[in-house]
Amino acid sequence: MPAAAPLQVAPGVHRVSVPLPFPPREVAAWLLEDGAGHTLVDTGIDTPPARGALRDGAERLGVTPATLRHVVLTHAHIDHYGLAGPVRAWSGARVCMHEREEALIRAFVDDWPAERHRAAEEFRAHGVPDGVVPELIAATDRIHAQYEDFRPDDLLAGERGDLPGGGGWEWLLTPGHSPGHVSVYHPERRILIAGDHVLPRISPNIGADRYVPDPLSEYLASLARLRDLPVELVLPSHGEPFADLAARVDDIVAHHHERNEQLLALLERPRSAYELALLVFPDLPADTRLHALRETLAHLAYLERAARVVREGERGALTPARYTRCPLPR
Ligand SMILES: [Zn+2]
Ligand SMILES: [Zn+2]
Repeated sequence: MPAAAPLQVAPGVHRVSVPLPFPPREVAAWLLEDGAGHTLVDTGIDTPPARGALRDGAERLGVTPATLRHVVLTHAHIDHYGLAGPVRAWSGARVCMHEREEALIRAFVDDWPAERHRAAEEFRAHGVPDGVVPELIAATDRIHAQYEDFRPDDLLAGERGDLPGGGGWEWLLTPGHSPGHVSVYHPERRILIAGDHVLPRISPNIGADRYVPDPLSEYLASLARLRDLPVELVLPSHGEPFADLAARVDDIVAHHHERNEQLLALLERPRSAYELALLVFPDLPADTRLHALRETLAHLAYLERAARVVREGERGALTPARYTRCPLPR
């Protein structure tokens, strides 16, 4: 099937649809035109159909190795950055991401055998049965294999700055879905390239692990900061562009509070994180179960910080850590 033509969503802002071999089946790469040059925000995954779609889109928009100067990655998930290396090899463009994202990759990749061992201990400490730990480790290995060789050229630091490539675009640190996730914003034109921070149809996955202990607190805080930004057009990585940022933020925040209440209701007796994950997300294959556990841990960390639950038992102890609901303050 030939790739769809790029869609101009605003003057000089083009959406290139890049296919994914897994749900949600498609990711957007954004080509920003600015006078002589182009900036690419996200690249898609590295598969032959994705390469074809990105190349075809770039050709139709008149992008050449000489005009493509910068690649900005919203975050280091495989569906967004996978083609960054090949695009750099083709064009010589400089690839940037936030330094928090790069630090996460380094922590996850360097010294992997020891990290892998600690990950297995963490799973056991959260109540994953010995027979299931190898499945979750295998899922972690598959994620790890995607990160091994990645090195950006430039790092973004701080909370906000001018986008490399200029044109009045800025980047904003919007952590939660990933700790160094950035959104791309044009204050005068009121356009927000939201990455995976705010999606129209699905609630972005927010997962905790040993590298990111409390992502939900960060996510809710960054959503609150973004909510009232002057924005008229939101460009998400998955799904169609939309207009009402505040309404969508409110929906996502409500979803997380409902999930918190669901977990609190299940904690009528002490339970491990894994037990809770299976109750909230039943019948999942191993890859998805890893995400379910991480999502559950994100909620538990948030509730623990809010003094709504307490954790009993130490991490790494022989008996898994169990969570209990706190009595509501009078
Ligand atoms: Zn993502
Ligand atoms: Zn994504």
